[in-house]
Amino acid sequence: MLALGSFRLHTLDVQYFRLDGGSVFGVVPKVLWEKVVEPDDLNRVRLSMRMLLARSNGRNILVDAAMGTAWSEKMKAIYGLSEWRLDEELANAGIGRDDITDVVFTHLHFDHVAGAFEEKNGRLSSVFPNARFHVQRRNLETALSPNLKEKPSYIAVFVEALAASESLNLIDGPCELFPGFELMPCGEGHTAGHQLVKISGDETTLVHAGDLVPSSAHLGLNRVMALDILPLEVINEKTRLLGEIIDGNGILYFAHDPFIEAATIRRDDGRIVADRTVRL
Ligand SMILES: [Zn+2]
Repeated sequence: MLALGSFRLHTLDVQYFRLDGGSVFGVVPKVLWEKVVEPDDLNRVRLSMRMLLARSNGRNILVDAAMGTAWSEKMKAIYGLSEWRLDEELANAGIGRDDITDVVFTHLHFDHVAGAFEEKNGRLSSVFPNARFHVQRRNLETALSPNLKEKPSYIAVFVEALAASESLNLIDGPCELFPGFELMPCGEGHTAGHQLVKISGDETTLVHAGDLVPSSAHLGLNRVMALDILPLEVINEKTRLLGEIIDGNGILYFAHDPFIEAATIRRDDGRIVADRTVRL
C-alpha cells in the first residue's frame, strides 16, 4: 500500500497473459529485448495485467480490468492466460467486488476491459455490480467501429457490453474525476481516446501510464510497440510525459510490467531509466 494525499493505493496482481515479443517490442531487435524479458518457445513474453486500486473518502476506484474469465479454451491457450485472482487480491486489500464504486478504463482493448464482465447463463454481466464505468467517449466510439489494424484488440462482445451498461459515464477530454484523481487523454499514438490517470498527493504524484509505457522495458523513447497505431506520436507523448514525471519527481505505474508495478525514473547519459522501485 502506498499513501498519497487522501488516497490509499494498492496494486492487484490479478492475471498474466502472453503476447508475441514482436508485438510488444516493435522494431527493437530480439537480440536486445530478449535480454530484458525472456520469451517462451512460441516467442511470447509474459505480461502482467495488474489493476491499480485507489481508495479515498469511501470510494474504491479501479483502473482497468484485465482479461477476466469469459474466454474460450482456444483463446486462453493463444494468450497463455493465467488464473484470475481478483477475489484474493481484493480480499488482501480488505474489500470485495461489491465495494468497487468506479472502474476507469484507460482504453477498451480486450486486456483492459474484458475482466469487468463475466459470463452468467450465456450472457455477459458486470463483475462490479455497484461500479460506475468511466471511459473517454472518443475511445468508445473508436472501439465500436475499429480500424482493421485494431479490430482484433477491440473485441465486440466486451465493447458492446460496456456500451450497453447503465453505469457508463462517457468523458470528453481531461477532467478531475475526484479531488486529486485526474483523467488525462494522452494523444492518439497507442489508440484514439487513450487516457492516463494521475493521482496527486501533497508531495508527489503517481501516473498510471496505460499502454503508453506498458512496462519499464518501454522507458526507452524509441521502444514502441508494434500494436501502437501511430509510433511517432507515441514517441512524442512519451517524451512529454516522462519529462514531466522526472521534473516533478513523480512515480510511474506500469500495468503490464511482469516484475515491478511502479518506479521513479531518471535521466542517465541521455537515456531514461527506472530509478527507485515503488511497491504498492
Ligand atoms: Zn494493454
